[in-house]
Amino acid sequence: MSQPTVVRVGPLMPFLEDALERMYAAPSLADVGSQTEGLTVAVAGGGTVIGAAEMDQLPALRAIANFGVGYDNVDVEEATRREIIVSNTPDVLTDAVADLSVALVLDVLRQVSAADRFVRRGEWAAGERYPLTREVRGSVVGILGLGRIGEAVALRLEPFGAKVAYHSRSPKDVPWAYHASPVALAEASDVLVVLTPGGADTKHLVDAAVIDALGPDGYLVNVARGSVVDEGALVQALEEGRLAGAGLDVFDDEPNVPAALLGRDDVVLLPHVGSATVQTREAMATLVLDNVAAFLAKGELVTPVN
Ligand code: NAP
Repeated sequence: MSQPTVVRVGPLMPFLEDALERMYAAPSLADVGSQTEGLTVAVAGGGTVIGAAEMDQLPALRAIANFGVGYDNVDVEEATRREIIVSNTPDVLTDAVADLSVALVLDVLRQVSAADRFVRRGEWAAGERYPLTREVRGSVVGILGLGRIGEAVALRLEPFGAKVAYHSRSPKDVPWAYHASPVALAEASDVLVVLTPGGADTKHLVDAAVIDALGPDGYLVNVARGSVVDEGALVQALEEGRLAGAGLDVFDDEPNVPAALLGRDDVVLLPHVGSATVQTREAMATLVLDNVAAFLAKGELVTPVN
């Protein structure tokens, strides 16, 4: 058999791993040892870091196809310096992630998960009443990072009666109120939904000042990346009653969730499942395969980021 050209880096979903093995006899980076000369395309999942060290291991590398719209796991600056092009999987996951973001907004306000636990603990049967909750209608939902997913979340929440506001680094051509900073947006919002990219530029964009601007009746929903929120400041604000609740799909040190959050009924904790539906994960895998095929045929990627 001829020398493989595609290499798998880190764990991938079985559908994608099987296709890469079947179509390209793609080995795993962990197994190739020093046999790297023909490996020009790397395929990686969102949780797998590809930095200078991994690029050093693959001297022939020319393209990285990343499984995920966020690509903060790849050192794109270093890749660009080495003339390695990088792709992500935009658009195909927007609906699924927006749906999950709305689910978190509804859950933190109406306490679906916490009320479910109340029933299971037998407290309803014992005659207890569940406390009243908050509703979306009339709430100002601030979207921090009004991109593809942020806009889809805003459009979904308007029919619920939410008023939408947003902050991105630049105003967009949308009918919603623009706020010039995360603090200004948080001050105007009842619920802040974070949907920026991760990485160094957005590290702790949601800090103690933003959380305090949201205030004791405010809710934080983070579906972006754990790095965007100062997790320590978030835990402290919840413990001190300076924030009403939080819905979190992403964390600083996944899969580890701060122990202080695990016993709290005012937080909803999800295991990074924003795009995790059968349909969307297959669509993402197909787009990764399209990127690999386009690179091998034409030296170009379908959805490049650099
Ligand atoms: P996108 O279309 O690129 O939107 C990101 C938006 O964030 C842009 O409109 C950008 O607007 C804004 N932004 C970037 N840097 C910012 C900053 N420093 N301050 C404020 N706003 C900033 O990306 P998308 O497809 O909507 O995806 C957004 C992110 O969601 C991904 O990067 C990923 O981290 C996360 N995500 C999570 C999951 C999950 O499973 N939980 C799944 C998919 C995606 P400006 O350029 O005007 O600032």
